[in-house]
Amino acid sequence: LTVTARRVYDDDGADAGAVVVSRDVTAELTAIRARDDLVASVSHELRTPLTSIVGYLELVLDDDLAPSTRRGLEVAERNANRLLSIVADILAASSTNRSTVELSIAPEPTDVAAVAASSLELHAPRAAERGIRIDASGLEHAVAHVDPSRLRQVLDNLVSNAVKYNRDDGVIEVGTTSDGPHVWIVVRDSGHGISPAEQAQVFDRFFRSDSVRNTSTHGSGLGLSISREIVRSHGGDITVRSDLGSGTTFVVRLPATDEPATNANEWPAP
Ligand code: ADP
Repeated sequence: LTVTARRVYDDDGADAGAVVVSRDVTAELTAIRARDDLVASVSHELRTPLTSIVGYLELVLDDDLAPSTRRGLEVAERNANRLLSIVADILAASSTNRSTVELSIAPEPTDVAAVAASSLELHAPRAAERGIRIDASGLEHAVAHVDPSRLRQVLDNLVSNAVKYNRDDGVIEVGTTSDGPHVWIVVRDSGHGISPAEQAQVFDRFFRSDSVRNTSTHGSGLGLSISREIVRSHGGDITVRSDLGSGTTFVVRLPATDEPATNANEWPAP
C-alpha cells in the first residue's frame, strides 16, 4: 500500500482539512514479478540453442578454411559469445533480484589479494592490447569472509570495466587491505569518468551511460548491479567515486575474518 497526504486550504488560506490517497500496489508488484519470471525463462530458453551454436562454430573453426570464410565465422562466434554472456547476466540479475537471501553464497576465509591477482591475470592481455598498464603494487594479503567464486565475479566485472572504459595507454590500479573489522578492495582507472548524476545510477539494472551506449564498447548494464547484490549479500557494500576526465574508483568493503585463508598459498604466485 502506498499512502500520500496533502493539507487543503480554501481561497482565504484557511485550513479546510486534508486529502489522503491510499493506493493498493499489489497489482504492480505482481506485474513486476511476472515480467522478471518471463525474462528469466526466455533467457533460459535462449541459452541452450546458443550454446550449441557456439559449440558448432568452434568445431568448424578447427578445420582448414578459406580466409574469408574463417573471418566471417569468427565474427559470428564472437557475437554468439557476446549474446551468451548477456543472457548469463540477465539470468543472474533476475535471480539475484528476488531477495538477497536467495542468492546462494558459501562464504569461507578468502585472501582477497589472491582473487584480485588472478582476475588481473585474466584481463591483462586485453589491457596490453590497448597499452593499459596494470599496477598491482597495492595488493596486500587481506582475509575476508566471502564466497571466493562470487568475489571473483565482482572483481572480474570491476576489472573488465576498468579496461573497457579506460583510455588507450591508461592505468589500472588495484589494491587490497584490511583495517580490522573490514577488508577493502580498490579498483581505480584513468578513463573518461562518470558524471555525478550518472554515478547515482551505475548500480541500477540495465543502466549504461549516454557516452558509452553508442560506442563500440559492449555491455548489458547488469554487471555492476549484480556486483552490488553480491557484495551486499555478504554484508558489505560497494561505492563509486569519479572525476569526469580523470578516472573512476570503485571501493568494495567486506567483512574481515581472523581465520587463515583457504586460498592462502595462491598469491604471490609460487
Ligand atoms: P556494462 O559494462 O555491461 O555496460 P555495468 O553494470 O558493468 O554494465 O556498468 C554500467 C555502466 O556504468 C556502464 O555501461 C558505463 O556507462 C558505466 N561504467 C561502469 N564502470 C565504469 C568505469 N570504470 N568508467 C566509466 N564508466 C563506467
